[in-house]
Amino acid sequence: MKKIAHAIILAMALFSVAVVEAKDLRNDSAQHNYQVTKKFYQSLIDSGNPNNPQLAELNLLMTMLPKGGDIHHHYTGALYAETYLDWVDKQGFCVYRVDDPARHREKYRIDSSPQGAGPTDNDCLKADAIRQDTGFYRELLMRWSDKDFANHSHEQPAPDQQFFDTFGFFSPAAGYSAVAGLQILKQQAKADKVQYLETMLKSAPSVDNPALAARIDALPPDADASVVGQALTSYADFLDRDADAQQKIADYKSALASYAAGIDDADFTLRFQSYVSRNNPPAQVFAGLYSAFAAAHGSKLIVGVNIVGPENGVVAMRDYNLHMQMFHLLKQRYPDVHLSMHAGELTLGMVPPEGLRDHIRNAVEIAGAERIGHGIDVTYESNPDRLLEEMQQRHVAVEICLSSNAFILGVEQKAHPVTVYLRHKVPFVIATDDAGVSRSNIGAEYLLFASRYKPSYDVLKQVVYNSIRYAFIDPAEKKLQLQQLDRRFIQFEAAAAKLADDSARPLR
Ligand SMILES: [Zn+2]
Repeated sequence: MKKIAHAIILAMALFSVAVVEAKDLRNDSAQHNYQVTKKFYQSLIDSGNPNNPQLAELNLLMTMLPKGGDIHHHYTGALYAETYLDWVDKQGFCVYRVDDPARHREKYRIDSSPQGAGPTDNDCLKADAIRQDTGFYRELLMRWSDKDFANHSHEQPAPDQQFFDTFGFFSPAAGYSAVAGLQILKQQAKADKVQYLETMLKSAPSVDNPALAARIDALPPDADASVVGQALTSYADFLDRDADAQQKIADYKSALASYAAGIDDADFTLRFQSYVSRNNPPAQVFAGLYSAFAAAHGSKLIVGVNIVGPENGVVAMRDYNLHMQMFHLLKQRYPDVHLSMHAGELTLGMVPPEGLRDHIRNAVEIAGAERIGHGIDVTYESNPDRLLEEMQQRHVAVEICLSSNAFILGVEQKAHPVTVYLRHKVPFVIATDDAGVSRSNIGAEYLLFASRYKPSYDVLKQVVYNSIRYAFIDPAEKKLQLQQLDRRFIQFEAAAAKLADDSARPLR
């Protein structure tokens, strides 16, 4: 009996030694692959400039790189114009091929009359006819996105105008099917090695109460905080009790839930941010924000709230601080709700200098933003050094969208503050913003980041991990996402180490 027990103990000991050895071996090879990948990546960025052929090799590596999450992402801006043209077809719509002001027709606009009720003349083209007309098709893609904006001479609106106009062109087709659109984005995410998407798909509903709204809309810009607080609280109290508002919020939540039903799998997770547009009248913004918070409160699917639209708009600039107070009040009512805010998507010349002084600071200090979208004007803020220190200490993460910033604001290369955030140890992520409009993808954003700013491999990896660490997904799910990212990096580094071996051979 004793002998058997000894034999069992010996076998167990040998087995555990074997397990430990196998684990050590795995760790050794993972460590080796990591070191080789790091060296290989460094060799590519050392010579990686846009005129260097190794940019393509860096692109190859960036395509393979696990990207974690894309957490600054607009659903309608993420889909490509070609998809919207397919949806014009599926809905039986047509697109005007000429301007005709007398008949309220504008070239490139979609006529979304119900099937059979649309124009019968030849000036509104079906999708097939557009695809067959090479010239018009190319022009359409250029108006429905930023395609070919900068590479040839043509009639140019201001770039930010061009960018925001695209949404007006394709939006009549965009309502075709959120389920289909999300499937397209999921497939793209998988191809791009993105495991987590936090997208803004549908703005939160806004319920009007004319008497209470008038009180908010009449607030002077310099209104005392307590007066603002009272006006907002009365409206929020009304919305708390209003059956219509509560029904609309419930409908909003179930619409998003139905779009996302069944989309998550072992390699892909989708979550939403609710949001409002910042260029609407104050009471409308507030009622929408109330719904956005109420919908996100206690929700596993709607993980945060945002505010969108051109920040340099007249209303957005005028009401910026009022919006921050709205966020502040609602954050107190719903402390569990996470906030990411487009803030500081501005640059000198776009607005008067005083407009650049405090948007990021107020988003952080008054609204309580945990993440900042863009944060481009940070170096123009009052006491920017102290603001950066505060962001670093509070772990406020910045969502860096390089293509979008280059196009809309003209801020790129060495003028982009990503290096400032890096030096001041403010965490940031790389994101796409509107990949369809920008004709980009997340791999291209990482290529810009790596080739222009030459972060070390460890920094690059840190930035990828940030996209999960600062995601608004709940903590238990975040842990699983981080473990998945660990596994993906082990696989990536094994493949990259092999690539490094292959690339050591001479080209000919
Ligand atoms: Zn955005």
